[in-house]
Amino acid sequence: MSTPALKIYNTLTRTKEEFRPIDPAHVRMYVCGPTVYDYAHIGNARPLIVFDVLFRLLRHLYGAEHVAYVRNITDVDDKINARAFERGISIRELTDETNKVFQQDVKALGCLEPTVQPRATEHIAQMVAIIERLIASGHAYAADGHVLFDVPSMQNYGRLSRRSLDEMLAGARVDVAPYKRGDMDFVLWKPSKENEPGWDSPWGRGRPGWHIECSAMSWAHLGETFDIHGGGIDLVFPHHENEIAQSCCAFGRDVMANYWMHNGFLQVEGEKMSKSLGNFVTIHELLHTEKFGGRKWPGEVLRLAMLRTHYRQPIDWTVKALEEAEKTLDRWYSLLDETSIDLSAKPDDSVLEALADDLNTPLAISHLHSIFWSSRGTEYEQSIAKRGWDIHDSDAASMAVATAKLMGLLTSSPAEWKRSVVEGAGVNANVVSSLVSERLAARASKNWAESDRIRDELAAMGIILKDHKDGATTWEVKR
Ligand code: AMP
Ligand code: ZN
Repeated sequence: MSTPALKIYNTLTRTKEEFRPIDPAHVRMYVCGPTVYDYAHIGNARPLIVFDVLFRLLRHLYGAEHVAYVRNITDVDDKINARAFERGISIRELTDETNKVFQQDVKALGCLEPTVQPRATEHIAQMVAIIERLIASGHAYAADGHVLFDVPSMQNYGRLSRRSLDEMLAGARVDVAPYKRGDMDFVLWKPSKENEPGWDSPWGRGRPGWHIECSAMSWAHLGETFDIHGGGIDLVFPHHENEIAQSCCAFGRDVMANYWMHNGFLQVEGEKMSKSLGNFVTIHELLHTEKFGGRKWPGEVLRLAMLRTHYRQPIDWTVKALEEAEKTLDRWYSLLDETSIDLSAKPDDSVLEALADDLNTPLAISHLHSIFWSSRGTEYEQSIAKRGWDIHDSDAASMAVATAKLMGLLTSSPAEWKRSVVEGAGVNANVVSSLVSERLAARASKNWAESDRIRDELAAMGIILKDHKDGATTWEVKR
């Protein structure tokens, strides 16, 4: 089968469109990254995972060296100033510490490193340059140490979010300020007090507004116009609308990015998971504490749980979804344990096709299930049966792994997976292995009492033993 055409739902046009990169040898994607003042929550994990799948798919379709993925780090923001002050540490200490945990979190979720992760504080010169252009072209004005974007100066402002003026006013939670000409005008630059971070500029010592940061960083790393811009659905307005206004007006272009993609929310009882509502679970606590279901969870479990829902649909957060995802991964990894994997194998065409159709990960995962477990008689399973695949054979297993990797799944070895599950359950794998060896030695010398005693000791730790016909003993954690 030839390579499938990639189709993407474009928020700009509200339709699914065929993806045509500006330059197939240099496909460019920008995704808004974290504001590094506190641990990221699992709602924030959703765009990280979704756009990682897209990055993997683009690399597969266009070649890894032909895709640039930029995800920024917002390290200048009033929330950062407030938190650093509260904790009595410097802003740089806070942002470095938070960013370090963030990088560990995304790695644990199985995300590839983006091509560039620019920091806002390292792009102040580009922000100032854009603001100067906007003033020169009559799209911005300086007033009282501030610089504001003059919204009525842009004819098609609101094109992305398609909101009425009233809705925009409500959504932007606009501040009424004496230096503003229009209610909708937003801040590009604002003055900093002595104790606030600031940079010298033509408008005095100050700091950038949030939106200008992404216009500057995408410009610096991807150019005036690029292919894909992504983020969560809450960013459509005002953040992305304002990024478009700044970049298009500064560079005299009609478009900033050709395709705008937005993931739906991870919800808790029907409400968006967010810091402000206080209904959040951090990625860090899910991975490293026993607060949820009494145990730690491997990052891959959260990843699979998320990808079982299409990225534009909302997801309700439950521990049950994690349990189900873990069971699936356990089954997949245990089947792989029996075969050798060829890392140069090609992914399955039907899965590739599902992913190319606006990232239909639920369908892709259902096909993957069929490859591992072809017993449900679906049309796809019948096609597998015709091809004579058997997951116990190296060819089929290698293809299954190559396919799963397109979604960043099954990237560990079965042994690594088992170790992470065992450690998540609070069991030390080395201790278990040595007890199993001691028991085997006891059995070899027909010391049945000792063998039973060790079996009971392991059972008390939640470990179930399986004695095989060939004399070997394997073990797993009781669920
Ligand atoms: P923030 O730190 O709030 O700017 O969010 C960082 C990224 O996470 C943005 O792309 C947001 O749209 C996204 N995001 C925040 N909360 C959620 C959520 N509950 N579900 C899905 N995405 C979210
Ligand atoms: Zn942004």
